[in-house]
Amino acid sequence: MKKDCLKAIAIDGPAGSGKSTLAQRLAQSLQFFYLDTGAMYRALALHATRLGLAEDDGEGIAQQAKQIEISFEMRDQAQRTLLNGEDVSEAIRRPEISSLASKISVFSPVRKALVAQQRAFASRAEGIVAEGRDTTTVVFPDACLRLFLTASPETRARRRFQEWQARGIDTPYEQVLAEIKERDLRDSSRADSPLQQAEGVILIENDHLDVDQTVQLALQYWQRAMA
Ligand code: C5P
Repeated sequence: MKKDCLKAIAIDGPAGSGKSTLAQRLAQSLQFFYLDTGAMYRALALHATRLGLAEDDGEGIAQQAKQIEISFEMRDQAQRTLLNGEDVSEAIRRPEISSLASKISVFSPVRKALVAQQRAFASRAEGIVAEGRDTTTVVFPDACLRLFLTASPETRARRRFQEWQARGIDTPYEQVLAEIKERDLRDSSRADSPLQQAEGVILIENDHLDVDQTVQLALQYWQRAMA
């Protein structure tokens, strides 16, 4: 087994690329801890909304990031996100929280506070699968395997649209696509930790791959990385 890298799989990619599904399946299969870094930005966004903080109050939101406790718990084989002990798994998936999470994530002090907490999760875990926008570049650049997962905006919007329909959220496809493109642009053009495929990070485009094929491919890369 390789010793000079962190026993981790880091997966970055845009919204709707299937990072969460892939990361959860890999974590299950390898018995690693699953770290959804996006859920942390979302939980902080929810907290800021509840406190009535302005979305441009980067310092105030970063202060809160240092004070809140974000944790994860497995219930009925699904990972739940807890904010100060409260299960906020559903609340953080609301479309307005997606948008706010993306807005507050541009602030460096906010990122610094959450990145520190993300690394703390890794230091407590035997192995970790982390997913987000900067896990391959900033949080865990030393991960044994780093993947960049993507698909066209249309494929990703279609997936999101279907997911939201199934949850009873009735947003037109065109609007889902526009929001995905807006988030892509904000996430990849911000100054601090923009979403990008860095050197040495393996690209997986999954427009034409189903979940099982994507998981198999990633597992092959993991085996190769550990050989
Ligand atoms: O991955 P998810 O869509 O849940 O993330 C919500 C938002 O949080 C993203 O649009 C992005 O702006 C932000 N984020 C980030 N860095 C991460 C994970 C998420 O900036 N590592």
